[in-house]
Amino acid sequence: MTSVLLIGECDQNGEITQATLQAITAAMGLDDPRITAVFPGRPPELAKRLPIDSIVIASEVTDSDDGIFEQATADISSLLLAKKPDVILLSKSDLGSIVGARLAFRADIAFVPDCLEISNSKGQLTVIRPVYGGSALAEFIVPSYPAVVTLRPGSYYPADEDGAPSIDSIEFQNVEPSALVVDTVAEVREGIRLEEAKVVVSGGRGLGGPEPFSVLENIADELGGAVGASRAACDAGWIDHSHQVGLTGKSVSPDVYIAVGISGASQHMAGCSSSRAIVAINTDPDSNIFREARFGVVGDWENVLPSFLDAVRELKA
Ligand SMILES: Cc1cc2nc3c(=O)[nH]c(=O)nc-3n(C[C@H](O)[C@H](O)[C@H](O)COP(=O)(O)OP(=O)(O)OC[C@H]3O[C@@H](n4cnc5c(N)ncnc54)[C@H](O)[C@@H]3O)c2cc1C
Repeated sequence: MTSVLLIGECDQNGEITQATLQAITAAMGLDDPRITAVFPGRPPELAKRLPIDSIVIASEVTDSDDGIFEQATADISSLLLAKKPDVILLSKSDLGSIVGARLAFRADIAFVPDCLEISNSKGQLTVIRPVYGGSALAEFIVPSYPAVVTLRPGSYYPADEDGAPSIDSIEFQNVEPSALVVDTVAEVREGIRLEEAKVVVSGGRGLGGPEPFSVLENIADELGGAVGASRAACDAGWIDHSHQVGLTGKSVSPDVYIAVGISGASQHMAGCSSSRAIVAINTDPDSNIFREARFGVVGDWENVLPSFLDAVRELKA
């Protein structure tokens, strides 16, 4: 049996983040898992339908803890003492990275950040994480529990909300904050968030310039998806860096990832390899992307995309 304390998170709209649902999938893959989740702040209504064993309702967490996470750290630290979990699982978010490191320090236990895969057997934890700037993946063994693990978003497919966990309420001590957030500036986003999109249409250097991204946008609109890009395309100034997928960009795990004019470098794949199906459009049949893709078209995007868009519109009509 593996007891897991999962630190869940909600987005600005109070919805459970995809990264949290992905972390649940990761936890479900551990050996005979018993999963308890806690959502710093207010747990969303939907948490009561998660496929986990229990939820701890935190009583005293205020919005002023946003971005500082002192209260969250204190609450979760006291939960560690109460629940004694084998694995403490967080997403590699601001909260996860900050609180995860603090928890491990306070409890003097292992901190294993930025993992792509996690498994365990016989009291040993095995994780896979990128090394050498993402040029390689390495397997690490954590020889004993407990350990704090952060998971890179997009590494697992999100769990469905189809459970009925028991609800536990615990009184937490209020913490005097040592700092206060005086202002926050939200990133302005249009359309579907890249990390949440079920379809991502990504373009790379093979597009040759910024204009073709409008074709990708049309396709993404038709499919209800979002536009991504390789770092080469972002560095060239063809599209904003907020669209970058990969090791130093965003991690995505859509149902379908369409890579257009992208070679499939390991640093790019680090951000999209957990997609359910990758579709590649590339002129070079030896391009690495075809090793990763489930479906591929060897061809020039200029010939392939217009008929692809027509076909999508026809199917939708
Ligand atoms: C530390 C580090 C971090 C990095 N982080 C990231 C990251 O987060 N994300 C990322 O993407 N990269 C990242 N990179 C860069 C990465 O190594 C690659 O250089 C980059 O992904 C290449 O982008 P690309 O596939 O668009 O370009 P290229 O590798 O140049 O590939 C272009 C592809 O387009 C094809 N093509 C050309 N013309 C056409 C056409 N008309 N129609 C169809 N196909 C065509 C070509 O055959 C080729 O396969 C990182 C690198 C380092 C060192």
